[in-house]
Amino acid sequence: MRRHHRIDPAKLAIRYVLGLALLVLFVMGGHGLHIITGKQGALDEEVLNVSGRQRMLSQRILLLAHKYNDDSDARYEALLSESVEIFTSSHDWITSNAVVPGTAVHSHYFSTTGANLDQRSLEFTKLANELRSFEPGSALALSAAAKLEEIALVNLLSELNTAVALFEAAANKRASTLEHIQIAVVAATLVIIALEVLLIFYPAHRTMTGMINRLRHQAWHDQLTGLINRAEFVERTKSLIDRYPDELENIIVLGLDLDGFKQINDTMGHPAGDLVLQSVASTLRDELNEMGGISEVHVSRVGGDEFLVSLHTDSTRPGAFALRIGQQLIDAVEQPIAVTTDERKSQDCSVGVSIGFALLSQTNGEIEAALGNADIALYKSKQGGKGIVTLFEPEMRRQIEREHRIKHELRTAIRGLEFRAFFQPQIDLNTGRVAGVEALARWKHPGKGIVGPADFIEMAEEVKLIDALDGQIILNAFQEFKRCRSNGIDLGTLSVNASGMALRDPEFCEVLSKVAAAHDIGSQQVTVEVLENILLKEDDPSLETIRKLSQAGFGVAIDDFGVGFSSLARVGYLNVSAIKIDRLLTSEAESSNMSKVLHATAAMAKGLNARLFAEGIETASHMQIMRSIGVEIGQGFFWAHPMSADDLCEWIKEEHRYCLKVV
Ligand code: C2E
Ligand code: MG
Ligand code: MG
Repeated sequence: MRRHHRIDPAKLAIRYVLGLALLVLFVMGGHGLHIITGKQGALDEEVLNVSGRQRMLSQRILLLAHKYNDDSDARYEALLSESVEIFTSSHDWITSNAVVPGTAVHSHYFSTTGANLDQRSLEFTKLANELRSFEPGSALALSAAAKLEEIALVNLLSELNTAVALFEAAANKRASTLEHIQIAVVAATLVIIALEVLLIFYPAHRTMTGMINRLRHQAWHDQLTGLINRAEFVERTKSLIDRYPDELENIIVLGLDLDGFKQINDTMGHPAGDLVLQSVASTLRDELNEMGGISEVHVSRVGGDEFLVSLHTDSTRPGAFALRIGQQLIDAVEQPIAVTTDERKSQDCSVGVSIGFALLSQTNGEIEAALGNADIALYKSKQGGKGIVTLFEPEMRRQIEREHRIKHELRTAIRGLEFRAFFQPQIDLNTGRVAGVEALARWKHPGKGIVGPADFIEMAEEVKLIDALDGQIILNAFQEFKRCRSNGIDLGTLSVNASGMALRDPEFCEVLSKVAAAHDIGSQQVTVEVLENILLKEDDPSLETIRKLSQAGFGVAIDDFGVGFSSLARVGYLNVSAIKIDRLLTSEAESSNMSKVLHATAAMAKGLNARLFAEGIETASHMQIMRSIGVEIGQGFFWAHPMSADDLCEWIKEEHRYCLKVV
């Protein structure tokens, strides 16, 4: 990921505050300057007014002096006095407010070297006041007026003019200076704004953009592998569909799940697991980018060890194409991965991957539905033994939905203890007495009543709940067996059926021993019936359980013997205690061919030192034949159907000749 220029937010905040303070300072300075300029302007205007008025007043005083002499009217004296007073006070105001030392105006007013305006004004007003003390028209008054005229016209007027010009020049200069200062302040403010843009706003903008980009990346990507996440994957797949709306068949989604990843995490640790995920991610990305026939591809990690891929291919057979690239991906992922562990040791490890894929045309462009389909196909790949790629077919969904339904129903039934053991008596063909019972599963369905195993055993096997069901039946069988005994009826031996799945549980023997002991039933009293088919697989862990059962003293009978394809070699090797002839063979016992098979079976059992049982005995003839070939124990409708423990106890009491009383 590209690194963005970043500034420490604290530093940025300091810059913000300083920049703002400077800006406020300059704005306030500008405002202050504006006020000062205004005030100065008003003062200058006032000074120009007053100094201009002095010129006019000097002429008025001169005129009134002449009027005073020409016309001895007292009014002129008063007017003259008033004008002189105004002239004097205006002069005082100007000298104290507008004449600044060190300026040309100041030397004009107060020059020490030559005549100055201050003295001239004082002389003028003094003369005007003297005139008023003389008799109007007298020689003194006329002389004073002539002198006044000389001062006024020769010197004062031009000096006042000069003063006005000087004031004007000073005001202009000040105004121009202030204007320059104002321009400088505005320029400085603009420079500050520019600097703030450069040093604050631009870096802040870049920092923010960087942060937004990072957040966006985090929101759309998986941090560990750098691949896009699910949300982004869906978005990109949507755009893919928008780009090729008429080629849905060529848009494919693949669901991938690693096989054996958990072991790596468990044995080599999570850091190693992370490295493996990163390696797988880049393998998938590189492989898909390099493959021909793909015009656009998106790879994402959607959790733990799950990946999703969507792509558009220009292949004319997209299904076959996907199968081919799926296989290529499996091969690529299976290559050993070098992982460097904490101790800096490099170690090779390998994972597999199962793949399921679906075409967008199968869901009419619906992405989530297509991903669900790919998931179902992936589930099938896993079920099929991993490292497989499977194309989704609608039948798979129906199957899975059915499985889910059955699973739910069976789970509820197991939780509600709806499975019970029924018992079918096993008869000693030599004495005619009950030698034992076989526990057979029945479902006490809340709606359907008693349901036989044909309707649920296969389903329970299919959805992998058969071991739980076996457990429930065996436990119930022991409970009922013990209850009958406490009611005074001993049922002899107890045969229980165990599925391959239950037998593959390495704890099966231990658990059975404990349950038997908890019900005061010895292992010699218990026989576990296993299906012949189990013996087919050489490395099946159930063979070990069978061995353990024999060692613990339990009887082990091969059930349904003669209809499966058991390996006779293994029958001998396992040292089973009994062989139970299947009911199909019994039903045909009267035919001469079957008679030969039965005799051979009997000879084999004898050779193996195993007892011979026969099930499915429905008639006296069946019983006779079985007894004649050496069958020891018979079971079948000839005597009784499977029934509840209570019914069985009643049956035994009625058919008392078969009853084995508790000693
Ligand atoms: P199985 O173990 O061979 O049980 C004997 C079956 O033969 C029983 O059927 C029984 O009712 C039936 N049967 C008994 N006598 C006669 C007869 O004279 N004629 C005929 N035609 N049939 C007879 P069920 O109870 O329907 O059980 C069927 C199979 O279901 C059992 O065959 C066994 O393989 C399986 N099963 C029953 N309970 C369990 C269980 O708890 N666990 C497991 N894993 N499988 C069970
Ligand atoms: Mg059985
Ligand atoms: Mg059987």
